[in-house]
Amino acid sequence: MADHYEVLGVARDATPDEIKKAYRRLARELHPDVNPGEDASERFKLVTHAYDVLSDPQQRARYDMGGNDSPFGGGGGFGGFGDIFETFFGAAAGGGRAGRPRSRRERGQDALVHVTLELRDVVFGTHRDLDVDTAVLCETCQGSCCQPGTSPVTCDICHGSGHVQQTVRSLLGNVVTTHPCGSCQGYGTTIPYPCATCQGQGRVRARRTVSIDIPAGVESGLRLQLPGSGEVGPAGGPHGDLYIEIDVTHHEVFSREGDDLLATLEVSMPDAILGTTATIDSLDGPVDLEIRPGVQAGDVLTIKGRGITPLRGSQRGDLRVGVHVVTPTRLDAKERALIEDFAKKTKAPAPHLAEFHQGLFSKLRDRFRNG
Ligand SMILES: [Zn+2]
Ligand SMILES: [Zn+2]
Repeated sequence: MADHYEVLGVARDATPDEIKKAYRRLARELHPDVNPGEDASERFKLVTHAYDVLSDPQQRARYDMGGNDSPFGGGGGFGGFGDIFETFFGAAAGGGRAGRPRSRRERGQDALVHVTLELRDVVFGTHRDLDVDTAVLCETCQGSCCQPGTSPVTCDICHGSGHVQQTVRSLLGNVVTTHPCGSCQGYGTTIPYPCATCQGQGRVRARRTVSIDIPAGVESGLRLQLPGSGEVGPAGGPHGDLYIEIDVTHHEVFSREGDDLLATLEVSMPDAILGTTATIDSLDGPVDLEIRPGVQAGDVLTIKGRGITPLRGSQRGDLRVGVHVVTPTRLDAKERALIEDFAKKTKAPAPHLAEFHQGLFSKLRDRFRNG
């Protein structure tokens, strides 16, 4: 049987620290995930056993004095039997359809977060720092699922294949079926000392901040995809993607149609008759808008390039303003006399029917009502 000091590659007078360092280095080298195969796994058992003995002062003292030492993991007979079995089983599995054992490492799921934007953010684009709650890599075990310094061991039941075969007698003769091994869930290995931080999952839940530039032109229901920013997979598997679903809140004044913004401009009767310059509070700031004398209710005035920058493109849409002439409802006696005088002098025609005309303005109103 191999000498424990030789197995770890340290001198007989090595300090506990040196022994620990040597073990850690070898454990990393011989980790079954890095070195699949019986060879590394057997050496790993030897190394772990040597460390168990030499790291315990009492056991080390007894070993140094040539005392009894458990041959577990180092017995030639045991290893020999295992090798024979593996060879036999490996050959059988290779010819059959059992396949390889399952990997603990799997791709993580996609994650979804919602972000609520104002119309202003849609027009100009915006930047957000989003709190995202996902599985992240366990810092303690780095996804190995094992307590630091330990490692998965080959499953006793399926001997590492992840599968067990069952022979069932039937009318047609013996039928051999292959099932995932129930003892190791098909992984081929078991974890004797699961990492305490992640309960052997290789990942923990954590909140982190994801910074994202949201481009102009997005709309409610749209999902932005951030590849590789989702959940880390089981056993530190690759990340899923992160999706950011957009929700745009209703704006008091402006609504959207394609890349255009729509609004209503309320104009008093005198302003509609005489014309004026209106100063509009657009999302870009104040814009002067000429209202020609005699503007009609339902006329649509267009302010070029004050709409939304499309998601794919750079030319902004327009701001379209539907004119709504506000009829005065409360007149004092003097105002009433003025209007009556005006009516007499202008000889305006009496109300009369004309062809039904659904103007652009009423279309705009309908859209507003429908949201
Ligand atoms: Zn862990
Ligand atoms: Zn198993």
